[in-house]
Amino acid sequence: MKEEIFINNIIKNTKVEGPGIRHGLWLQGCEKKCKGCFAKHTWDIESGQKFTVKDVVSELSDSEDGITISGGEPFLQAKSVFNILDNLKTKSVILFTGFTMEEILENKNIFILKCINKIDVLITGRYVQENPEKSRPFVGSENQRFWFLTNKYSWDDFKQLKNSIEIRIKNNGNIVINGMENPENIKMFSYSE
Ligand code: SF4
Repeated sequence: MKEEIFINNIIKNTKVEGPGIRHGLWLQGCEKKCKGCFAKHTWDIESGQKFTVKDVVSELSDSEDGITISGGEPFLQAKSVFNILDNLKTKSVILFTGFTMEEILENKNIFILKCINKIDVLITGRYVQENPEKSRPFVGSENQRFWFLTNKYSWDDFKQLKNSIEIRIKNNGNIVINGMENPENIKMFSYSE
């Protein structure tokens, strides 16, 4: 497993990335360029941190309730994501992708389909700024869909959750925010001189 993968971040023991206490993995790289994307910093794959697949597996292996993978576009590095999922023992996997299910099923990259076999909850679709989501948690626009691919979770496990964010201050002083919140509320954290 010397294979390398470009990641944006790993946040452990988060309570805002799905049911339970989870480890979050954000992958670097996305070519979809959705208008209004909140994660533009993840678009350029080369600006990510290079990890070996083995190291990512090791980082994610002690999650309490499972892992949540997003980005960026995780399927841009589908082979490496599959190798992570194939070597990781975890209670559950949630993955966000900008692809629709139709695009996934038509895709010629066999590793995307192999990943699907390892995922419990898949959330699909690009962010459409003109069509914002008003009620469901974890998605930004109404076109995005939840697919419960195993019996691990159902919509009942998600519908009771509320969008919220966590703020961490790292040892080097950097502030890391994860989770989902109304952009209007996030503005109150912005700083200007
Ligand atoms: S798919 Fe996600 S990360 Fe990629 S541009 Fe759209 S919203 Fe941003």
